Amino acid sequence: MKAFLFVTDLDDTLVGDKKSLNFLEQLNEELINHRKTYGTKIVYATGRSLTLYQQLINTQELLEPDALITAVGTEIYFNSNYKTPDLKWSSKLSIGWNRDLVEKIAANFEDLVLQKASEQLPFKVSYLVKEEAAKKVIPQLDNLLKKENIKFNLIYSGNFSGSENLESKNLDILPFDTDKGLAMKYLQNEWGHSAHETVVCGDSGNDIALFSRGEERGIIVGNALSELREWYTANKTDYRYLAKSFYAEGILEGLRHFQFI
Ligand SMILES: [Mg+2]
Repeated sequence: MKAFLFVTDLDDTLVGDKKSLNFLEQLNEELINHRKTYGTKIVYATGRSLTLYQQLINTQELLEPDALITAVGTEIYFNSNYKTPDLKWSSKLSIGWNRDLVEKIAANFEDLVLQKASEQLPFKVSYLVKEEAAKKVIPQLDNLLKKENIKFNLIYSGNFSGSENLESKNLDILPFDTDKGLAMKYLQNEWGHSAHETVVCGDSGNDIALFSRGEERGIIVGNALSELREWYTANKTDYRYLAKSFYAEGILEGLRHFQFI
């Protein structure tokens, strides 16, 4: 056994239904012991803003992570007071980014419904859009943004099961050099962990970035959405594992599969 970098999505990956609570407790215990004994690092990587993350920790037994990646990779926090996101990361993201212009261009599409204010952040513009409309709107939006020479990253990803609006999915427009995977790579570099010593876990489309940046050990929980399952099937390799079990139980299954615990 040795130290590893553990990176997990939260909604519908680490936290799920009531049945999975026992497994979350078990996983937390394994991780705490691993951190204490070997110096393993624990990272949560979520699409939630810091505000919505803080709402989640009021209702779930989560650990104090060594770093917190919020808002689909656009903010990284190292300190548990969560006052300011990591400045080095923020300054990387500001290159070629023009938030006002992105919002102005997206306003041309009435199928895009702006998400609530807490989810609109300096490096993230977020909408809800129904799947049928998305097929038409996303390529058009992509074209318009490219014409303006904006450096951006468009991420379309399923909503989590506790969300208020399940009919629609999230459309996030972020700076070019950002997503959960690039934020994970940044932490890997900061702490000196290789891809082989890194485990990433997820359930939906915005987690593909965690699985696709390199040869990180990937755990796809058994309840994963079809958008991620399809990607997994098309990109099979021995360093990605589709668990049979759901949520935290699926993560435990994957950690055993890769012999991290
Ligand atoms: Mg999720």
